[in-house]
Amino acid sequence: MRTLSSALLASCLIAAPLFAQGAPAPAPARAPAKSPVSTSQGYLDAGQAELNRLLAEKPNNRKARNVIIFIGDGMGVSTLTAGRIFEGQQLGLDGESFVGEMDRLPHTALVKTYSHDAQVPDSAPTATAIVAGVKTRNGVIGVGPEAVENDCAASAPFKVQSLFGMAEDRGLATGIVSTATITHATPASAYAHTAQRDWEVDANMPAAAKAAGCTDIARQMVEWPHGNGLDVMLGGGRQHFIPATMADPEYPKAKGKRADGKDLIATWSAANPKGAYVWNSDSFAAVDPRNATKLLGLFEPSHMQFEADRTAAGNKEPSLAEMTTKAIAMLSKNRKGYVLMVEAGRIDHAHHGGNAYRALQDTVALNAALKAAMGAVDLRDTLIVVTSDHGHAFTMAGYPERGNPILGVVSAPVGTPTLAKDGKGYTTLGYANGPGAVSAAERSDPAKEDTGALNYRQQALVPLSSETHGGDDVVARAAGPKAHLFKGTIEQNTIFQIMRSALGFK
Ligand SMILES: [Zn+2]
Repeated sequence: MRTLSSALLASCLIAAPLFAQGAPAPAPARAPAKSPVSTSQGYLDAGQAELNRLLAEKPNNRKARNVIIFIGDGMGVSTLTAGRIFEGQQLGLDGESFVGEMDRLPHTALVKTYSHDAQVPDSAPTATAIVAGVKTRNGVIGVGPEAVENDCAASAPFKVQSLFGMAEDRGLATGIVSTATITHATPASAYAHTAQRDWEVDANMPAAAKAAGCTDIARQMVEWPHGNGLDVMLGGGRQHFIPATMADPEYPKAKGKRADGKDLIATWSAANPKGAYVWNSDSFAAVDPRNATKLLGLFEPSHMQFEADRTAAGNKEPSLAEMTTKAIAMLSKNRKGYVLMVEAGRIDHAHHGGNAYRALQDTVALNAALKAAMGAVDLRDTLIVVTSDHGHAFTMAGYPERGNPILGVVSAPVGTPTLAKDGKGYTTLGYANGPGAVSAAERSDPAKEDTGALNYRQQALVPLSSETHGGDDVVARAAGPKAHLFKGTIEQNTIFQIMRSALGFK
């Protein structure tokens, strides 16, 4: 079973040399931030305050005008916990008790992520479950379990309708925001139907699929037949929209990837003369939502930068929070309402590369985007959902002392590494498999390395070129109309039903 496309794998590894062998000596341990609670009475009081908040919760049974679904790709529970501690410690606070933006959402369900044919899913069937309500086969998007992966003709009759298509058909506005390519599995689930998630551009498609009438995902986005089309599309993947003969505006030595010679950006601009097309942070910032009818932003030939690299010299890209804010400003002009997906698409890629730092920094960026959205909407009429499509083989383990740096080696007390049976230290964060695996004999001593370095790759057990997804449950959290339906343990496809019901769509 194919679990990861070669393009995706490459993208995991090209952004930076993800290895820090021979890294400088670790920085001296900082004194951990103090716990805000230090007595038994303090814990009882804090628990009482949380109980009071729970008792005061009243279900919001209104109809939702708007739905915003945030997806942290690959953001399993261990990522949520480590990300929370990472964010709190970055702020100089007590990480363990830190309350991140996601933690504030009042309603939560556990979500079963298996796909129709796999115990551990990829992002194509999981996204289809979330936005179209149907579990399907690994590798396919927007088609049901009757489809056959890689077979256009056999899959074409089994298209399933997404919440985005339903919204457009009813006159609502729609938008997708992702730090991955905008044609990647998760955002593509909003608008595409394909027997193969890697068919992001026609050059990736076999002749048989083209002959059978299937089109690539980029073209499906531009030619989407619902309503007036997607109103906001912000992400990476520029190369999938321009011909192989055309130079990229940001990297003139790079060319587009389209084999059919089509310039889909020109096609879109011609069809949307009052729409704005942008490709860097300056042109993005210049867009006035009051004037532009639609917004297409493609900020990298492939995926956008990881948040940890985004602000480095030359990377002129908006943050996930900035894209979210502008998307909401654009979409909220529609009085009927809107449906928006915001994906932190690269938590997943950093994990595949065995690099916790970038995965956690992108998780913090998702929190910032959520915070921006919470400040821009009215929860009386807007349902906000935050979930993940699947977990990863990512662990947080050992017995580090409270306040130990989350990227550090297990230490108790802080600064005194706990040693394994081979006399070496070990990090709190690790992977069950992936590129960080080495044999026991050649295992280096993390206690002598800078495990907090951006490029540090955590050790792993089973050697794989790319770390894998996990099959454990993820969580969905929510606020706003019908958010209280997120409770218990639910199937991933039920998320669609709750959103659909909240919007009052039949
Ligand atoms: Zn993945």
